[in-house]
Amino acid sequence: MKFNSICAKEIRDKQPVRSHILPIYPTSSFSFDSIEQGMDIFTGKEKGYKYGRYGNPTVDAVEQKIATLETFGLDMEAKAVMTSSGMSAISTLFTTILKTGDKVLTQGNLYGGTTELLTSVLGQLGVETVMTNLQDLEKVEAMVKADESIKLLYLETPANPTMACVDLEELATIAKKYDRLSAVDNTFCTPYLQQPFRHGVDYIVHSTTKFLNGHGNSIAGIIVGTDIEYMEKSVWKTMKLLGTNCNPFDAWLTWTGMKTLGIRMDKHSSNAMQVAEFLEQHAGVERVNYNGLPSNPDHEVAKKQMRQFGAMLSFELKGGLDAGIRFMNKINFCTLAPTLGDVDTIILHPASMSHVNIAREIRERNGITDGLIRISVGIEDVEDIIGDLGQALGGD
Ligand SMILES: *Cc1c(COP(=O)(O)O)cnc(C)c1O
Repeated sequence: MKFNSICAKEIRDKQPVRSHILPIYPTSSFSFDSIEQGMDIFTGKEKGYKYGRYGNPTVDAVEQKIATLETFGLDMEAKAVMTSSGMSAISTLFTTILKTGDKVLTQGNLYGGTTELLTSVLGQLGVETVMTNLQDLEKVEAMVKADESIKLLYLETPANPTMACVDLEELATIAKKYDRLSAVDNTFCTPYLQQPFRHGVDYIVHSTTKFLNGHGNSIAGIIVGTDIEYMEKSVWKTMKLLGTNCNPFDAWLTWTGMKTLGIRMDKHSSNAMQVAEFLEQHAGVERVNYNGLPSNPDHEVAKKQMRQFGAMLSFELKGGLDAGIRFMNKINFCTLAPTLGDVDTIILHPASMSHVNIAREIRERNGITDGLIRISVGIEDVEDIIGDLGQALGGD
C-alpha cells in the first residue's frame, strides 16, 4: 500500500457485526473466559487485552498506523506507544531513557513546554539540560565527545517560531558515533513531510493534537521507536506506570483525522508557499520565515530532509508591538488561537500571547520579537487567507 492508502485504510473488524469503521472501546478492562486464560494473558503466554491503561484496541490501531507511516518505504520496523498528550509522550520518553546524572543536549528554541519540562521537572530529578546551537555541528561533536554524561540529543525541526532547521542526518550520525541516543519532535512535519528514521534518528515524538489529527478536536501524543524490544518493554512500561496512556475516544478522533493526512499536508504546503510569497513582497513586512523560500537561511537543510515545507511560517511586521496588536485585531477570516495544525488558518502573536511571561531579552534571543506573527496556514481557498492578511496589513 502507498502512503495515502495507509492513511485512509480502515481496520477489518473480525467481530460478527463487521463494523466498517474502527470501533471505540470505552472500557476500563477486558474479561477472560477462564482463570487459565487470565493467567496466560497476564504472563504474556497468550496475547490479549487486560486493563485499559495497559492497552486498548482503538489506541493500538492508531499506534500501528503511525508506526507504519514513520517507516513507510524504509527497510525497518517500528513500534509506537500512544499517550495522553504530546507533552506526555515527551515526558514518558525522557523518564524512560534518562536517569540522575545524565545530560540532554538540545536547542534553545524548543516547544515552550518541552523547555520548561527539561529545566524544571527533569532538573529537579538531577537531569541536566545543555542548550546550544545545533546548527554548529563541529561544536556539537566536540561537546558530545568531551562529556560522556550527555545521553540524549533532543531535536526539533523546523522549530517554533522562526522555523529554524537542524540537520537530522548529521546530528544522528554524531549521536551514533559516540554511542548516544537521538530523538526528534516531528509534530510540525508529520511522517508525510519528514521521516526522521530515514536519517538514523532513534526516537520520534508527536503531539498528534496538531497535524496528525488535523481537526483540533483531541489532545494526544505518540512515541515511535525502531528498537522494538525497548519500546515494548521499557517505553510501554513507563507509560503504563506513569499512567500517561491515551484514552480511546481521543485515539479514535486521531484515527479519523489521519485519513486525509497526505492531502491535507499537500494543501497546507502549497497554501503556505503562496502566503509566504505574498508576505515577502509586501511593504509592511520586514522578514518572512518560511523554509520553502529560497531566501531562507535554512532552505537547503530543509530541502534535504523535508518533502515539502509544511504549514508553519512566521513573519516580522514593521512597527513592532503596536503594529503587531493592530494587525491581530484586524484579522477577520483567520482564527486567533494558541494552537496549530488544524484545517483552518490560525494566527498567534507570540509576544502578547504564548510568550507574554518570558523576559523580552530571552524572547528576542530566540527570534521572538514584538512584531513577530506566527501562522499555521490552513487548507481553505488561499485567496481568502491572503485577502484577510492583506486587509489587516493595509492602510486602515
Ligand atoms: C503542541 C506541541 C507539543 C505539545 O503537545 P500537547 O499535545 O499540547 O501536549 C509538543 N511539541 C510541539 C512541536 C507542539 O507543537
